[in-house]
Amino acid sequence: MATLSFWGAAGSVTGSKYLIESQNGRVLIDCGLFQGGHELRDRNWQEPPFNAAAVNAVLITHAHIDHTGYLPRFVRHGFRGPVYCSRGTADLMRILLPDSARLQEEEADYRNRHKVTKHAPALPLYTEQDAREALNLLQIVPNSGELVRVVKGFSAEYRIAGHILGSSQVLVRVEEAGSERKVLFSGDLGKYDQPIIRDPVAPPACDYLTVESTYGDRLHDVEEPKIALERIIKAAAARGGAILIPAFAVGRAQEIVYLIRELEDEQRIPILPVCVDSPMAAAATQAYARVKEEQDEEYALALKHNPRPMQTHSMLACSTRDDSKRINGMQGARIIISASGMMNGGRILHHALRLLPDENASVVFVGYQAAGTLGRHVADGDQQVKVLGQWIPVRCRIEKIGGFSAHADWKEVVRWLEGLPAPPKRVFVTHGEPEAATAMANHISKQFGWQVETPQYGERFELV
Ligand SMILES: [Zn+2]
Repeated sequence: MATLSFWGAAGSVTGSKYLIESQNGRVLIDCGLFQGGHELRDRNWQEPPFNAAAVNAVLITHAHIDHTGYLPRFVRHGFRGPVYCSRGTADLMRILLPDSARLQEEEADYRNRHKVTKHAPALPLYTEQDAREALNLLQIVPNSGELVRVVKGFSAEYRIAGHILGSSQVLVRVEEAGSERKVLFSGDLGKYDQPIIRDPVAPPACDYLTVESTYGDRLHDVEEPKIALERIIKAAAARGGAILIPAFAVGRAQEIVYLIRELEDEQRIPILPVCVDSPMAAAATQAYARVKEEQDEEYALALKHNPRPMQTHSMLACSTRDDSKRINGMQGARIIISASGMMNGGRILHHALRLLPDENASVVFVGYQAAGTLGRHVADGDQQVKVLGQWIPVRCRIEKIGGFSAHADWKEVVRWLEGLPAPPKRVFVTHGEPEAATAMANHISKQFGWQVETPQYGERFELV
């Protein structure tokens, strides 16, 4: 009897790993890194709860590290099978996995230099070389619903999930003893009407469904992010102040630039110099422009009038450190978009050092700021913060735009589920904090009357 077990994103939002086992073999859906508190992160260091060498293939829903970041470690533990993903996902994994490895190596290095390690010497979870070995296993598959043969007894279909470039819902067909079970994984589902990429497509019929619940207990802000951006940019232009936007390099940075370009085209804001100061964001923008099959109708329309919809009218190149320094010397109204999105590292720190004390400047938060990060301190209104080892006063204006999100809220998940051609036998709600997952499960059972579970870490279910 085939089984489905949950080894991550069960009772939490990170570490996504779902294992299907049958007489024919084992297939893992997503291979995510645990992020957050110690208890979760320690799991990255433990022996995997199942034999990596005995897993025949990995199917990746999308490139975010909480869905792919364990892969290099999994390869170290002996996994050698193919890793299936869409073209957009492969492009972004080639940017994100080596970066994740560098962060692991830097952290180990820091621990050794500052002697803050229980194990001397501190080792990285994996190295850039491990990341390259994982990337060598990638097999690109179309995400337009074609049947893909995975390994004996398993095939899969990928469809657009609209969350970030390449993000896919994955339907796994498990054949065993002459019968077939269809198990659908939503992956992370995008918001409808997001710029650039297409909306989530309707789910195909399935026997079992695993659905995400990041926003299972929340609805998105009603103020359109574009209107908020317009208001903030106009005000800054009028007083000649700089705008600093900390943004995640993949997805969010592209979305912001796209909206600024639209506002310029519609003559709703003056044209200001815009600098995206992040090499990763530049690489991700190229991937977004290259993977044409995922761009939405609106993007195609924009492309007719403008060959580069992800560029504003006065965009400054900022790929090298010298470019970055040149931006530092600029005066007057300008927009700087830089990573990391929570200001806990990266080039944004140099801009923060100059602009946080400037009462004419604005810092605009467009994403979640985790506790303990510099972004959180600034967003919470701290009068003084430590940046690159220096205490500086915070005198700039603080703005927050809440409407940006790459995730469907609970009503959008319900809207997506309404597209199912027939009720599934059983629904598993995952990828949510416990309250969010429980709320999502309640919304689903109330709306549809289906049998819904919120699996715990390590829980196993028979696919009857
Ligand atoms: Zn994601």
